[in-house]
Amino acid sequence: MTTLAKQDFAVTTGTEGSVGLSGATLGGGFGFLTRWLGMACDSLVGAEVVVPSGTECAKVVRASLHENSDLLWALRGAGNGNYGVITSLTYKVAPLKSVTYLVAT
Ligand SMILES: Cc1cc2nc3c(=O)[nH]c(=O)nc-3n(C[C@H](O)[C@H](O)[C@H](O)COP(=O)(O)OP(=O)(O)OC[C@H]3O[C@@H](n4cnc5c(N)ncnc54)[C@H](O)[C@@H]3O)c2cc1C
Repeated sequence: MTTLAKQDFAVTTGTEGSVGLSGATLGGGFGFLTRWLGMACDSLVGAEVVVPSGTECAKVVRASLHENSDLLWALRGAGNGNYGVITSLTYKVAPLKSVTYLVAT
């Protein structure tokens, strides 16, 4: 996300940096940008998923808006450990040059 910010782009993540991006996205992902961009899972447009295949094998499946779109839909908020091991996530990013953060005390 820091790399994205250097290019003036952003995507919703959680409110602090210790949480894994995959777990946060697959479980929904509520953050400071949610009112503007939706939750992290709303920006998820593609994933690579390793699923069981046969009795002792596994295979890689792609999920996107055009390929296995039902799987992509399922991963957007219900993907934490439910459908396979997600090895790659693809996001739609939004232009963002700066933010103002206020704390009212
Ligand atoms: C300190 C803290 C702050 C938080 N703040 C926020 C917040 O601001 N907004 C918010 O929305 N949530 C927040 N959360 C919740 C957080 O988004 C979830 O706990 C999320 O699941 C963490 O993801 P992880 O990858 O770090 O966790 P993990 O414990 O590694 O994974 C959680 C679950 O996701 C599964 N999983 C992880 N990676 C994959 C993968 N690649 N493929 C398949 N399954 C996978 C794991 O099997 C497990 O079931 C916070 C949690 C903590 C501890």
